[in-house]
Amino acid sequence: MNITVKPADSTAPASLQAPVIATVGVVGAGQMGNGISHVCAIAGLTVVLLDVKADALDRAMAAMSKNMDRQVNRGLISAEDKLEALARITTTTDYAGFADCDLVIEAATEKEDVKRAVYKAMIPHLKPSCILASNTSSISITRLGASTDRPEKFIGIHFMNPVPVMKLIEVIRGIATDEPTFQATQTLAAKLGKTTAVSEDFPAFIVNRILVPMINEAVYALYEGVGSVVSIDTAMKLGANHPMGPLELADFIGLDTCLSIMQVLYEGLSDSKYRPCPLLVKYVEAGWLGRKSGRGFYDYTQTPARPTR
Ligand code: NAD
Repeated sequence: MNITVKPADSTAPASLQAPVIATVGVVGAGQMGNGISHVCAIAGLTVVLLDVKADALDRAMAAMSKNMDRQVNRGLISAEDKLEALARITTTTDYAGFADCDLVIEAATEKEDVKRAVYKAMIPHLKPSCILASNTSSISITRLGASTDRPEKFIGIHFMNPVPVMKLIEVIRGIATDEPTFQATQTLAAKLGKTTAVSEDFPAFIVNRILVPMINEAVYALYEGVGSVVSIDTAMKLGANHPMGPLELADFIGLDTCLSIMQVLYEGLSDSKYRPCPLLVKYVEAGWLGRKSGRGFYDYTQTPARPTR
């Protein structure tokens, strides 16, 4: 099934019309890339998922199958929907697979040099009309767009984790992003059943500007001995009615991603209140990245996960 994104004004010149999005490329088969591929495939889009690591692609297909099973068990989709959605996804380690993409969403590791290298490798394979989006949690869309051959077709589409469950997409226009590109992402979000919040292009946008300093403060509370991992998480769950404690949430997001976001805030806003907690830095240096590496503020090799401090 092809998904047609209708132009906002069908009498407008072709250059002002929102393009049709039928095939989506996704770069990075980590927790976000597999979630984005999942929701696009369920919505009927053809998906090409790329990673540098072939084993990441295998893990992503397995994760999507498992997550779709959950949706089948809850009666949200049928077993047939699941099979059809998985059949719409192909995986590759070669950017030549992006030749037919109308939109590519980059969800590679949260490092600017990695993202720039991804765009450089990808661009020769894209058709000129292809929209290029980043799922970055914090990096300037204007700056990332300026590093490509198509800043007017470059936009931030920031999905939330876990993508199949969370209703929000933050949409961030760079200074050069054109209106048809913006309209195409709005229509895509509606097709995926998501609500959008539009953010200006400032470090970490809206959600992470507020959320990640709160997580960083929780790590400071742990670092300074204000409370244990369990005390801090229990305090915020029962005292502030948060569904997850901040340290549990940090493990879920990935401590490397949390640290990168704090660094972007610290450098981008030149304000010492955003300095990353040294304990967060130490965990990342140790390779304790949270759930994805099996250990963060909790040890996930134990059942139930055991707090590490
Ligand atoms: P992740 O570590 O789970 O996955 C990153 C993937 O990118 C890995 O599979 C890695 O192999 C791949 N990758 C690295 N370099 C690459 C390259 N040069 N080419 C192709 N693939 C490459 O990370 P994630 O949590 O999925 O985050 C990905 C992006 O999504 C980041 O920009 C992050 O800020 C953003 N994001 C994360 C969350 C979250 O809660 N984790 C939420 C919203 C947005």
